[in-house]
Amino acid sequence: MKRRDFVKIGGLGTTALIIDGCKAKGNSEKKEILPLPHLNQVKVISTWNSGINANKTAIEALKNNKSALDAVELGLNVIESDPENTSVGIGGLPDENGNVTLDACIMDHQFNCGSVSYIQNIKNPISVARKVMEDTPHVMLSGKGAYNFAISKGFKHANLLTETSKESWEEWKKENNSNLPAINHENHDTIAMIALDHKGNLATGCTTSGWAYKMEGRVGDSPIIGSGVYLDNEVGAACATGLGEAIIKICGSHAIVELMRNGESPEQACKIAIQRIKNSNKDLKDLQVGFIAMNKKGEIGSYSLYSGFNYAYQDIQRSKLIDSQYDFEWKG
Ligand code: ASP
Repeated sequence: MKRRDFVKIGGLGTTALIIDGCKAKGNSEKKEILPLPHLNQVKVISTWNSGINANKTAIEALKNNKSALDAVELGLNVIESDPENTSVGIGGLPDENGNVTLDACIMDHQFNCGSVSYIQNIKNPISVARKVMEDTPHVMLSGKGAYNFAISKGFKHANLLTETSKESWEEWKKENNSNLPAINHENHDTIAMIALDHKGNLATGCTTSGWAYKMEGRVGDSPIIGSGVYLDNEVGAACATGLGEAIIKICGSHAIVELMRNGESPEQACKIAIQRIKNSNKDLKDLQVGFIAMNKKGEIGSYSLYSGFNYAYQDIQRSKLIDSQYDFEWKG
């Protein structure tokens, strides 16, 4: 059914569908009331303040009856295509050798998922991940194979290393060489997103250039289903940002969904996952992790190990940045 076929009665909160023209003609045979969509319930959350812009695009898609999956892809594309953002897509900080390598994954309401890791020279890895999900029998493609697949699907080869990111890398090489910068709110804003659409379906995705100046070949949590993101449409969804090595150890996003299944609220589930991060790492210095979650009812929550983590919320009326609850003050 096309959008023009919809007749809205009494605003978004009480939308009903009537087959085009039937009401005006008074043709009772053809008149058919379709199930109510719930445009008033659509919403999206995403990590860090860069999520505000991504959410705006995602909510427009949701308001136009697009699926949560479309909303997540379109929203994340905004940040991937922004050369000013040094954690995602074009402009992302490179690895130790000056190569920008990207990780991304996406998951829908039917357990379909797709992922790319260690992909280079492709600006929108979340869209490649979706193609892996929809057009291949696989879940994950990596490195050269992921790149070749993207090119075969019409994605363009691009230089992702901007002048600004190159200068930062050169400075790091000169000054620190073997020291990796901590992943925290000052130097990182990997974006992970969860959307809820008018049919009540969830989708989630995550896209990143990973840990700045990482070892060649390093892959974080972001392309790993269950770590960077997870979703069970009967329960809810969760996703992660922060030190991927710590998130992978506890299968963070999957853990949160299972905790919600057992009755925990989104915030409490994220808090318990952070407790597991604390239990599974001896040295918590420089180890920032933040989780966000949304359950099937659309309730949201987050938790991080240190202060400084925030996430962006958007529904059809409001956009806001929410400071996460946390355990420790970040002292840098
Ligand atoms: N989780 C990402 C990684 O470890 C980085 C981040 O979220 O800041 O690659």
